[in-house]
Amino acid sequence: MLADLRAMTLPEATDWVVRELGQPRFRGEQIWRWIHGKGARSFEEMTNLSAPLRAELAGKATIGTLAVAEVQTSRDGTRKLRLETRDGKSIESVLIPDGDKTTQCISSQVGCALDCQFCATGKLGLTRHLDAGEIVDQVYRARALLAEVEPGRRITNIVYMGMGEPLHNYDNVLRSLRILTDDKGAGLSQRRITVSTVGLVPKIAALGEEDVRPNLAVSLNASSNEIRDRIMPVNRKFPIEKLLDAIRAYPLEQRRRVTFEYVLLAGVTDSLDDAARLARLLRGIRCKVNIIPWNPHPGSDFRRPEDAAIERFQNECKRLGLPTYLRTPRGDDIDAACGQLANRSNAPELVQLRR
Ligand code: SAH
Repeated sequence: MLADLRAMTLPEATDWVVRELGQPRFRGEQIWRWIHGKGARSFEEMTNLSAPLRAELAGKATIGTLAVAEVQTSRDGTRKLRLETRDGKSIESVLIPDGDKTTQCISSQVGCALDCQFCATGKLGLTRHLDAGEIVDQVYRARALLAEVEPGRRITNIVYMGMGEPLHNYDNVLRSLRILTDDKGAGLSQRRITVSTVGLVPKIAALGEEDVRPNLAVSLNASSNEIRDRIMPVNRKFPIEKLLDAIRAYPLEQRRRVTFEYVLLAGVTDSLDDAARLARLLRGIRCKVNIIPWNPHPGSDFRRPEDAAIERFQNECKRLGLPTYLRTPRGDDIDAACGQLANRSNAPELVQLRR
């Protein structure tokens, strides 16, 4: 089998080049820069390598690349990319422009195993993990797309909030973080990268020990174990107290805060009692709360609270001293908002079906 150079960190790629090609280390770095700095898709593009070396490379290695199968653009400017892996699996990634900022939401798995009841991806089940090359290539494909359709706009922030549970695919996600933050590659600052998790406690502890440390977001989504057990099966394994202990132990950098996501489900998580319990749970944790009113998807009978209920909930959190932000849905007309990623296309007949 050909080695996939895209899935390797810089040290891994350099070792491979020395071992397999008998080339000096700097050559490995040169090749790696092509792939991760310039987004090269083939060895042909690597014009500072000799033709025989390029041919040898092509015989021994590949550069795993995702195919951009579909791009949908929302009326709010959000773009959803459907990308195809080489074995024909679809994943989605979302580009969210916000003033000068552009946040890309990337996937870490094909589907998801965690089965959160309110999430469309959860309904798909897990097909497989993405490898590190497939994770980072979402960024390179999006960069290439932007260069074409909106030159001048740059991806400034990355959030691991697409399909999948990043910490369930820990090794590949970690490798992708190392690749994206290497200044010889994509050169993104770890302060501009956020990994979101349902709360896999041992993996949160492990991440805290790594040399690359992204921002952490935790999908709390409920104010008691009773409710959380019901809507997030993972809570039966890692209940709220264990989760919050892991968060308290996570070594936060100066002036950084943990983000808690809190999905508002009408009649389930949106009462004033919920707000009070939430504020009590999070007391003493350097954090902020992103309130995400539930985004609908077919086949789910949760409801999004009325605007007044959303406002009431947020006001109560604020009154109790909890810093909260309301995440307004982006790209919901193309099923690109939080919890809507399920490889659906908004063909007109589908839109009609849902109304
Ligand atoms: N598995 C990780 C990464 C996905 S992030 C995690 O859960 O954190 C996706 C976010 O969208 C999570 O905070 C999740 O709770 C939220 N979400 C899922 N379904 C949603 C829906 N239908 N409406 C609004 N938010 C949703």
